[in-house]
Amino acid sequence: MGRHTAAACKLCRREGEKLFLKGERCFSDKCAFSRRSYAPGHHGKVPVRTSEYLIRLREKQKARRIYGIGERQFAKYFEIASQKKGATGNKLLEFLERRLDNVVYRLGFATSRQAGRQLVRHGNVLINGHKLNVPSYEVRVNDEVQVVTKAAHLAKSALEKFPDRVTPAWLALTGEVAGKIVAIPKREDIDTSLEESLIVEYYSR
Ligand code: SF4
Repeated sequence: MGRHTAAACKLCRREGEKLFLKGERCFSDKCAFSRRSYAPGHHGKVPVRTSEYLIRLREKQKARRIYGIGERQFAKYFEIASQKKGATGNKLLEFLERRLDNVVYRLGFATSRQAGRQLVRHGNVLINGHKLNVPSYEVRVNDEVQVVTKAAHLAKSALEKFPDRVTPAWLALTGEVAGKIVAIPKREDIDTSLEESLIVEYYSR
């Protein structure tokens, strides 16, 4: 299944919480979830009988939606994470966080991961001085990320929209629209409501 690109707000309503997929809009009174906090569709208001399986499935779907990743690619991330030393859930989050589109978003150069992905796809982001248009690129320690001139105003305006935004401890702003990876993200550095243990349980069933 491909990545969802449309009707992002329906995904929040489906998951029963704000996933912050649309930047500024998510913090405004236009937020669809704030207005209609029930699932989309004719039966949206009908209570769904839940089960342990459903809870784990929903957590996995929520993670996919937050990071904008297709089913197969997400399963691949999980497989790689499960082969690494350490807690699989932490590793999974680490890989998701290290995606270049997420890094552009976490540095504040885009108001959503989707906008970060667009910046990368359109060739507006340099890694260590070289153009790289691969949103899934896995950043490494000491990588330098820079938004190039023609899109720099977009990155600056994204930064200005959220002046209180805090740069995660594993990243550093090094210029107006430039940043650096200073460490591999640890679990405590990752600001998310996701319960990764439920995702591990989903794949371990
Ligand atoms: Fe979700 Fe943002 Fe849409 Fe609100 S505006 S429903 S948080 S994507």
